[in-house]
Amino acid sequence: MMIVCATRADASGSRVIVVGAGILGSALAATLGRDGRNVLVIERDWSEPDRIVGELLQPGGVKALQQLGLEGCLEGIDAITCNGYAVFYPNEEVLLPYPLDKSHNEGKSFHHGRFVSNLRKAAKESPNVTALEGTVSSLITCPVSDRVLGVSFSQKNADGESASQNAYAPLTIVADGCFSKFRKEYITKDVTCSSNFVGFVLTDCPLPHPNHGHVVLAKPSPILLYQIGTHDTRILVDIPGKLPSVSNGDLKKYMMDVVGPQLPKAVQPSFLKAIESDRPRSMPNSWLPPSTNRREGVILLGDAMNMRHPLTGGGMTVALWDVIHLRKALARDVVPDLGESTRVMAQMVKLHWKRKPLASVVNILAQALYKLFSAGDDENMKNLQKACFGYFKLGGRCVSTPVGLLGG
Ligand SMILES: Cc1cc2nc3c(=O)[nH]c(=O)nc-3n(C[C@H](O)[C@H](O)[C@H](O)COP(=O)(O)OP(=O)(O)OC[C@H]3O[C@@H](n4cnc5c(N)ncnc54)[C@H](O)[C@@H]3O)c2cc1C
Repeated sequence: MMIVCATRADASGSRVIVVGAGILGSALAATLGRDGRNVLVIERDWSEPDRIVGELLQPGGVKALQQLGLEGCLEGIDAITCNGYAVFYPNEEVLLPYPLDKSHNEGKSFHHGRFVSNLRKAAKESPNVTALEGTVSSLITCPVSDRVLGVSFSQKNADGESASQNAYAPLTIVADGCFSKFRKEYITKDVTCSSNFVGFVLTDCPLPHPNHGHVVLAKPSPILLYQIGTHDTRILVDIPGKLPSVSNGDLKKYMMDVVGPQLPKAVQPSFLKAIESDRPRSMPNSWLPPSTNRREGVILLGDAMNMRHPLTGGGMTVALWDVIHLRKALARDVVPDLGESTRVMAQMVKLHWKRKPLASVVNILAQALYKLFSAGDDENMKNLQKACFGYFKLGGRCVSTPVGLLGG
């Protein structure tokens, strides 16, 4: 077994291991590296991800990228500007623009993999960052103090054989995403899943309101549409409970009989083509309330620590703001030595409260709006849904306040 120290030997205790180079891990590795920490980031697969998640970044997320000096990651990926939402109720629709403030308030939608590749490139090009391809299999814990000392991970050699290695650092940051392998050891809260999103890509689909996310208040639950490239539009269909089978054709039938007729007319031809030609992809829509990091030597962040329904597209915004908050919490003048657990733990309590104003708003809105928009046949919820739509129609602050909150 080989032993890897997080980048160069560093007596100042400024080394950090980051597990996972997704949205949070890459942005964090770039940021900490630029701030002078020695970072070892271990990702199981550095090739461009192909996923149906994280494709619309709210204006608040764009601003977080700017603060991190990572706004360039939105360039060169055929990203589409998003100025707000269009909500469709049977026979009615309402536009919900992002409120304008001093700066330009716009979101961006894109192919997730292209954005992540740019974030990863920024991480790799940042000073003090070492990037390794490997799958982290366990966190190494001191049997006496219970402190996390580093990670065990496996790497494939040139012959394709796996070799196990250990890496040690005063601090390990786990950002291994929604299916986190490690959270159960450090978090007592459970992940709950209310529904799945099934996604297709529609080609050259004429959206009724270009440069807007489209939310169709369908039965039994909402459908999202947004352009992710010049020719590509993502559709995400929320399906509560168990997914209909793909193999016996039930899912396709559901798409044709239940979903298709509820879509805006202009979208229907591209949708029918997509369900014939595109492979349906699904992802669970999960809820995980946040927790304060309390174990020495380890911090969980991103989807590993906190998730909300993706209806409102808030996950990346929360993750990028968490990078800003963590950067401040662990600034070198505040915590010169990351091995000083008492200081790090005190900062984790502060981090919990610092992230709350944004994360709670995004989390609560996502969960509440999903409940409302998936009213199904519940008469009370249907009335509330109608009231919510009527409220949006009032315009003015009835739009700018909720959409401003949703936009992070
Ligand atoms: C259907 C769906 C749609 C969504 N749409 C949006 C949206 O439009 N806008 C938005 O803001 N949010 C959206 N989200 C949420 C968003 O995708 C997440 O909040 C965000 O990706 C979280 O970032 P992360 O870094 O925590 O995890 P991820 O981005 O998933 O990154 C985790 C990384 O860890 C790596 N990894 C995992 N295990 C290991 C291991 N053992 N060893 C090494 N590496 C490992 C993975 O390969 C991956 O690169 C959506 C979520 C879902 C489910």
